[in-house]
Amino acid sequence: MPELPEVETVRRGLEPAMEGARFAKVEVRRGDLRWPLAKDFVQRVEGKTVKGIGRRAKYLLVDLSSGDVLLMHLGMSGSFHVFHQPGGAALGRYYHQRKNHVAHDHVVFHMSSGAIVTFNDPRRFGSMKMVPRQKLDAEPLLKGLGPEPLGNEFDAAMLARACSGKRTSLKAALLDQRIVAGLGNIYVCEALHRARLSPKRMATTIAARSGAPNERAERLVAAIQVVLSDAIKDGGSSLRDHKRTDGGLGMFQHNFRVYDREGAKCRTPGCGGTVKRIVQNGRATFFCPACQK
Ligand SMILES: [Zn+2]
Repeated sequence: MPELPEVETVRRGLEPAMEGARFAKVEVRRGDLRWPLAKDFVQRVEGKTVKGIGRRAKYLLVDLSSGDVLLMHLGMSGSFHVFHQPGGAALGRYYHQRKNHVAHDHVVFHMSSGAIVTFNDPRRFGSMKMVPRQKLDAEPLLKGLGPEPLGNEFDAAMLARACSGKRTSLKAALLDQRIVAGLGNIYVCEALHRARLSPKRMATTIAARSGAPNERAERLVAAIQVVLSDAIKDGGSSLRDHKRTDGGLGMFQHNFRVYDREGAKCRTPGCGGTVKRIVQNGRATFFCPACQK
């Protein structure tokens, strides 16, 4: 499942094709995504200009000239691909080899820029929803989300406050979207390793009794921010279905220190430990028992 760096990579890939362009034509080939597309979906998108593309947690927010926001989520297996029409305007021409993927191209946006943006989703857990901008604050899909891990609100004080008194594991706390938004299994494992904190440690142990952050909270926040920034720089991680919008692959999977490395040597300099796999709350956790305490 794509996590924050993968979604941010998609956002950056869509921007040059969509920002400032008009939806010349919208084709809905299959509207039964995670939820059925609204009946007036095409009507509300077609002819509108894209003012900007933002991201909140794992949601893409396409701001339209009509005052609507097109809220999109990739779900488990969703991806966007950008094609430039042969002979199209001065856009960088990129021709993507199409294989038998076309059957899963459920929504196709023909942009006035000449770009064709397809939404492909074999498992159809992705979603698209129109929300008037002034109702965005009340939107149920976004409302309960915690702060952005790369935003100003997210710091050691905030994280410690959120974890203080929590008897759940640190890993479970970081996966809780109400505490911090957009983190999933991969980047939580990687951040905990870089912070040298055990995923089994109680969440409350990053806070003092008063709820103030201790040195572990500082280390953890720094590790989360570094791992996400590095992953975004590398275009995300290409595991299973995730590709960039131009069909290229993200490279961050080559920098995994623990994720999917069971039995391999720990990459912490001088550690010498072995990466272990355990199951927490039904999901695989990878960590090094030697340097993560
Ligand atoms: Zn280690």
